[in-house]
Amino acid sequence: VFAHLVRAPEDPILGVTVAFNKDPSPVKLNLGVGAYRTEEGKPLVLNVVRKAQHQIVNDPSRNKEYLPIVGLADFNKLSAKLIFGADSPAIQENRITTVQCLSGTGSLRVGGEFLAKHYHQRIIYLPKPTWGNHTKVFTLAGLSVKTYRYYAPATRGLDFQGLLEDLGSAPSGSIVLLHACAHNPTGVDPTPEQWEQIRQLIRSKALLPFFDSAYQGFASGNLDADAHSVRSFVADGGELLAAQSYAKNMGLYGERVGALSIVSKSADVASLVESQLKLVIRPMYSNPPLHGASIVATILKDRDLYNEWTIELKGMADRIISMRQQLFDALRSRGTPGDWSHIIKSIGMFTFTGLNPEQVSFMTKEYHIYLTSDGRISMAGLSSKTVPHLADAIHAAVTR
Ligand code: PMP
Repeated sequence: VFAHLVRAPEDPILGVTVAFNKDPSPVKLNLGVGAYRTEEGKPLVLNVVRKAQHQIVNDPSRNKEYLPIVGLADFNKLSAKLIFGADSPAIQENRITTVQCLSGTGSLRVGGEFLAKHYHQRIIYLPKPTWGNHTKVFTLAGLSVKTYRYYAPATRGLDFQGLLEDLGSAPSGSIVLLHACAHNPTGVDPTPEQWEQIRQLIRSKALLPFFDSAYQGFASGNLDADAHSVRSFVADGGELLAAQSYAKNMGLYGERVGALSIVSKSADVASLVESQLKLVIRPMYSNPPLHGASIVATILKDRDLYNEWTIELKGMADRIISMRQQLFDALRSRGTPGDWSHIIKSIGMFTFTGLNPEQVSFMTKEYHIYLTSDGRISMAGLSSKTVPHLADAIHAAVTR
C-alpha cells in the first residue's frame, strides 16, 4: 500500500553524517553535525555524568515507574533555576510553569503546539537564517512562519537595522523566536546593548518572545552569562517561553532531555498554563523519559557535582574557542585570501564560514570534509590534528 511513495530527501543536517559514514577515506572529517568531539575526535561522556549515573543505578530506592505528564518535579524546578537564575523573582512568585520535554526539539514542539491552541496570534518570526528544523517544527505545530532579517553576509555580522525594521513591522502579538546565545548556524549574537533594544521593541509592540536555549554554558563557558538575554526579558516582568536542551551542555544528546518554561504574569495563570500543557503532552507521548532527567537533577542538586560540571563545561567551551584561534592562524599562515576574523569572533559551536555551496562540494569531493551546504562548520568537530587539513581545503576552495 505504500509503493506509491516518493523517496524523501535526507535531512540536510543529519544527511551530512549519512554521506560521511559512506566515505572510506582515512582523512575524512565530519564538521556537519553539532556534537562535541574530544581532541581525539571521539564523543565525550562527561565524568560528572558517569558519576551521576553510578549513583542512580546503585540507589535501590529508585524504580522505573512512569514519570508524571510534566516530568520529574526536581528536574523542572532545577532547570528553571538554571536558566532564569536562582534569585529570579518570577520563580519566587511561582509565575513559571516548567515541563520536562524531549530535549530542545521536543520543548520547541510542545511550546509550538501550546501556542497554536491557546494564543491569539498564529504568526511566529524566525531569524533568517536559523536552525533548519525550526521552520518544520513550528509549521507542523500549526503556526504560520515568517522570518526577520538577522545575518548580514557583507559584514558577516548581525543585520541589526534589518532586525529592528522587521520586528518593528510585525503584527502586534506576533511570536518571535530568539536564540538565547550562540546563534545556530551563524555564530553571531547581539551585544548586551543590542539585546536591550530588542527587548524594548518586543515589549513595546507586545510581541511574545520564545527563547531557544540549546547552548547555555557552551558559548562562553559561563552559565549565567549565556542566560543573560533570557533573564533580561524576565526582569521586566513580561511573559515569555523558553526551550532548554541538555544535549550540548551536559553531552546528553541521545538521552533527549530538555524543558519548556512559560513565564506568566501571575501564579494563577501559570497553574492554568500547566493544566493545559498536560493536555498537549498526553496525546503526543504520555510522559517523558526518566533516565536523562534523573542524571540532570542529580547533577544540578548536588553542589560538588554541579561545580564539577561547570569545570567540564568550561573545558568544552574553551577547546572550541582554541579551535577558532588555530583555524584562523592556519588560514593566515597560508595567506588564504579574505578576512577570516569572523572565525574568532563567532560564538558557540558553529562558524558560518562564508563558503558557497560550490566550494563546500569541492571540499567534500577533494578533501573528504563534510559540512552543510550553507558553509557552516562545527568547531567542536575539529582538533589540532585536523585543523591543517581543513585550512588546506578552505585555501584550495577559495583560490581555485
Ligand atoms: N535549537 C537549536 C538552535 C539547535 O542548534 C539544536 C540542536 N542542534 C536544537 C534546538 C535541538 O537540539 P536537541 O533536540 O538535540 O536538544
